[in-house]
Amino acid sequence: MLTIRELKVCLLGDTGVGKSSIARRFAEDNFEHNVHPTIGASFMTKTVPYGNELHKFLIWDTAGQERFHSLAPLYYRGSAAAVIVYDITKQDSFHTLKKWVKELKEHGPENIIMAIAGNKCDLSDIRQVPLKDAEEYAESIGAIVVETSAKDAVNIKELFQGISRQIPPLDANENERNEVIRLGSQHAPRCQHQRRCC
Ligand code: GDP
Ligand code: MG
Repeated sequence: MLTIRELKVCLLGDTGVGKSSIARRFAEDNFEHNVHPTIGASFMTKTVPYGNELHKFLIWDTAGQERFHSLAPLYYRGSAAAVIVYDITKQDSFHTLKKWVKELKEHGPENIIMAIAGNKCDLSDIRQVPLKDAEEYAESIGAIVVETSAKDAVNIKELFQGISRQIPPLDANENERNEVIRLGSQHAPRCQHQRRCC
């Protein structure tokens, strides 16, 4: 029988790097050119098979604006993984990513899986951040790294597969009753603003 594992994942990074677009591409497989900025946070789910399990990603897409920064701990607290996004055409966004990593290391869950997404790789002719820089940085902090394009659906599934691969396997006896296993917080904050809220 299939075991469903719930994985809380938060998306972090500067405004405009493509967090909402990555979430939307993964959950709904579509893309909008002129999306409205996220206010507060929004929530989506997507369930994908992984081996003989189902991984149900509970995706918290946060707002990058400074005024919402203080809310971020609500979203990364209890997360199994954080996807930290930068825009390969904006060096500043890579700098912000490093600040998020520092914050997660200081205040995030102890074993949180960190996945770095260098988004907008369809714009590589105007890139400011070399892939090598991101790879070296990711290696130094033990994170997954991949360049993505939410626009062209490049490496979005692979990003989440990378997270699935890092989830510790279930103990054979741990789930004999075929329960839903939750990784990350079961007490996710309620979203006030966006569609398809919990
Ligand atoms: P967020 O603030 O991090 O949630 O970023 P959004 O998802 O709102 O995206 C900000 C802008 O970047 C929007 O105009 C998107 O259409 C655009 N965008 C997002 N992902 C991509 C991508 O992969 N490639 C390109 N070219 N544009 C993207
Ligand atoms: Mg957004």
